[in-house]
Amino acid sequence: MKYLLLTLISFSCAISSFSQNCFIEDTTVVPDLKSGTNYFVPGSPLKCIRVIVHFIQKDDGTGNFNENDDGLTPSNNFSGYDFAKYILNYANNLLDNNQEMRLQPFGLVPVYDPGYRYKLSGVFFWRNTTLYNDYGALNCLQASYGQSTNDTINIFITSLHGNTGGYVRYIGDNAVLLFKPYTNYIASVNNNNNWYNRASAIVINHEVGHCLNLYHTLMTNSGTCKASWDDFCDDTPSIQQMLDINEPSPCCWNDVHCSNNLMDYNADQQSITPDQLEHIHSALNIEKLNFCECNYYTTTLNINSFNNSSGTYVAKNIIVSGSSAVVKTGKTVYLESDGITFNTGFEVQAGGKLNVLVNSDCNQ
Ligand SMILES: [Zn+2]
Repeated sequence: MKYLLLTLISFSCAISSFSQNCFIEDTTVVPDLKSGTNYFVPGSPLKCIRVIVHFIQKDDGTGNFNENDDGLTPSNNFSGYDFAKYILNYANNLLDNNQEMRLQPFGLVPVYDPGYRYKLSGVFFWRNTTLYNDYGALNCLQASYGQSTNDTINIFITSLHGNTGGYVRYIGDNAVLLFKPYTNYIASVNNNNNWYNRASAIVINHEVGHCLNLYHTLMTNSGTCKASWDDFCDDTPSIQQMLDINEPSPCCWNDVHCSNNLMDYNADQQSITPDQLEHIHSALNIEKLNFCECNYYTTTLNINSFNNSSGTYVAKNIIVSGSSAVVKTGKTVYLESDGITFNTGFEVQAGGKLNVLVNSDCNQ
């Protein structure tokens, strides 16, 4: 068995400390693909990236969505399962509506469908007040709760941390920590306006952009405007290049001269350029290939036990067998595969949930 489900109670991993908004360590060298068209082909079939959404609650189950409702008082009939679907759909809709880049000092920048979307592959709920309140918890969260980390992006939703939206640990990461979705959701309820959730969808697209090798276009990794910053894309001008043609700095929040690029901090964050898409599709064709639907890190997975835990199993072929393969009461298991065989003996106890997703189209 190639998958090891981590136990849910050991937290020996170090808790690191971050202070920046959207902090990413510059540890991965991304090849300079400026203006290349090797990997992004406009109009190609969409690539679907597997995403798992985790809700981190306080120890008593409060402070976030839960399995049954939104956790508010009084509660609304809108569970974490509902919200995970909703917010990924929102993010996908923003990708559907890629904007024209506002800054085009070098000539017209075409606007293409980004060619990728998110596919929800699992939703989990964990209780841990310490990690709920820890800004730097991503290492620990991924080590303790991350699922199928070789072929899914794990998104963890915890609590509000000042003005911070979230972060990844490095360019090319496979995990994202978000702080504001629940707060934004509460604002949407209180104001009866779903627009407040847009910021959560945007930050998903931004952080996953980092996972897919994108840098900020105008700012350092820690979010400081820098005149000569290079994001390895030719069609995203630097601050200095705008200053050189007597334009104001585009590193600002909301004005006609401000960037509207997804990878800056601005009011729009809805433009992805062709060179950025080249980086993204390079990642989706190589390092993150197995994260795309119909591609798998594991070819054949024999599951003899679910280890008394909740978890996700992703493999091209899955075989579930043996009387030890029991989904316990209160546990949730996801299976995702091109073909799944259930042999006699497996069991789902009352109150356990077994979600089976067979991608039969992948076999065609
Ligand atoms: Zn960022």
